[in-house]
Amino acid sequence: MRHNNISVFVPNLGCPHSCSFCDQHTISGELKAPGVDELRRLLTDAYRRIDDKKNTEIAFFGGSFTAIEHSYMISLLKTAYEFIKNDGFYGIRISTRPDFISSDILNILKQYGVTSIELGAQSMCDGVLNANDRGHTADDVKKSSELIKSYGFELGLQMMTGLYMSDKEKDLFTAKEIISLNPETARIYPVCVLNNTKLSRLYETGKYTLMPFDDMIELCSELLIMFSNAGIKVIKCGLHASQDVKDKLVTGYYHPAFRELCESRIYRKLFEKEILGSEEKYFEFSVNDRCLSKARGQSNENITYFKNKGITLKITAERDTEKFSVKRL
Ligand code: SF4
Repeated sequence: MRHNNISVFVPNLGCPHSCSFCDQHTISGELKAPGVDELRRLLTDAYRRIDDKKNTEIAFFGGSFTAIEHSYMISLLKTAYEFIKNDGFYGIRISTRPDFISSDILNILKQYGVTSIELGAQSMCDGVLNANDRGHTADDVKKSSELIKSYGFELGLQMMTGLYMSDKEKDLFTAKEIISLNPETARIYPVCVLNNTKLSRLYETGKYTLMPFDDMIELCSELLIMFSNAGIKVIKCGLHASQDVKDKLVTGYYHPAFRELCESRIYRKLFEKEILGSEEKYFEFSVNDRCLSKARGQSNENITYFKNKGITLKITAERDTEKFSVKRL
C-alpha cells in the first residue's frame, strides 16, 4: 500500500448481487460512473499536483471492478495506465468480489499496471455469506486469494464484523482464516445498517439484533492485535466518515473515529495487564507523545474506567518512549 491514493469510485456497475448491507451509491457517495474523459481530467490534475508519484496509486473503489462490463473496465484501465508508464504513478489498486477473479481477468489487470487487488471477503463462514446474500463461498475467497498471490499482486482482504447470523466467534474465525491466506493488507468494516437494505428490514422486524457498541470495540481491538501480530497492515478499521452514510444510517457501528476507539481499548488492556493482581492503587504510565490521546481514550475514558475501579492512573507523554513504561507511584 502506497502513502497516497487517487480514489476513483466506480459505483455498483454490473453487479448482479444485492448483498444484505449494500447500498453502493450511499457508500461511494457517487451516482454516476466516471467516463474516460472525466477520469483523464482527474488524473491529469493529480499528476500535476502530486510530487511523490512513486508513492501514489490510482485506486478504483466502490464497486465490483472486475464484474463491470469488460470493454468499459479496460477503457478505465487503459486511461489510468497512461499515468503509470514512463515513471508515473506507482500503480493501480482495485477492489472486487472473490468470484470475479480468473486467470483471464488477472492477465488483463497485469497488462495495465494493476499492482494491488482487494477482495471483499466479508466472512469466511458460508452460513453467514449465504444469509447475507453474498453469492460466493469462503472457498471462492481462498481460491481467488491464492491465484492473486501466484500472479505477484499485492493482496488485500476486507472483512465485515457483526453481519446477520454472525457473532464474535465467527468473526474471530474469519480473521484467522484471512490471516492464513497471508494478505499484505486487511480492512475491517464493522457493519453499518443503511436504509433500504435487507439488513435494515431484518433489523426493523426484530430478526436481526446487533451486539452492543462496546462489545464491537472490544472485538475489533482484538482483530487489530491479531492482524498486527501476523504482520498484516490494517489499512482501515471502521467505515469512511461521510455525510451520505450518516444520512442513511439506521443503526450499526458508525463512528468517525472508530479505529481510535479500538486503539484506545488496546491501551486499556495493556494497562490492565500491568495493573492486574497488584495491591497498588496509583500508577503512572509514560507513552510516546504521538499516542497520548489514544492512551487516555476519548474524553479520558481509560482514566475514568480505572477510577471507577478505585485506581488512579496518570498518563504522561515522552517523545522517545517506544513502548509504554510504568511507574507505581
Ligand atoms: S457485490 Fe459489492 S456492489 Fe454488489 S451488492 Fe454486494 S457489496 Fe454491493
